Amino acid sequence: MRIVLFGPPGSGKGTQAAVLKDHLGVPHISTGDLLRAAVRAGSPLGLQVKAVMDAGQLVSDDLMLDLLADRFGQPDAAAGFILDGYPRNLVQANALDAMLARIGQPLDGALLLEVPHEQIVDRLAGRAAAEGRKDDDPDTVRARLRVYAEQTAPVADFYRRRGQLTELDGTGTVDDVQGRLRAALAALAPA
Ligand code: AMP
Repeated sequence: MRIVLFGPPGSGKGTQAAVLKDHLGVPHISTGDLLRAAVRAGSPLGLQVKAVMDAGQLVSDDLMLDLLADRFGQPDAAAGFILDGYPRNLVQANALDAMLARIGQPLDGALLLEVPHEQIVDRLAGRAAAEGRKDDDPDTVRARLRVYAEQTAPVADFYRRRGQLTELDGTGTVDDVQGRLRAALAALAPA
């Protein structure tokens, strides 16, 4: 199964994808995790993207596409994937579409986790305290939310127009949201 899971920063995509991957038996591909690993490793890519990430801005579309093509080329991705953190804008949505068409593996659907703005801000403040992610500090959170509203939110329309979007309530416990996700996936691919 090939799905895109998206929603604002702090909507719980990463948490949900980490649980969902075992249920579906496909890898969780988080572009944020791939980039953070590159930064930790001090690789050329990591050195190139660190400042952009710390500012809460988007890494260039070309770099992201290379990173993604590389990850899709790994054997475990042949089973499918849960994509978390990509596409972040319309250029990326089109690039993903073209890449999947080329390999004959179209998306099964896009799932959008919706969480009210105030809850997002509270959750990210909690994560900043717990995990110490540099891009969870208040100024950077504001920048990331702005980038989401301006560049990523239009991606929902991209999938909606093609009848591929399922919007889900992302509030409640991890189990509540996981239940909604699984019900939505069952509706996409009836057993
Ligand atoms: P995330 O963990 O998905 O919130 O991503 C953390 C940061 O990594 C973002 O704020 C961006 O700087 C960068 N990033 C992750 N995915 C992408 C993407 N698809 N395009 C551009 N930048 C990205």
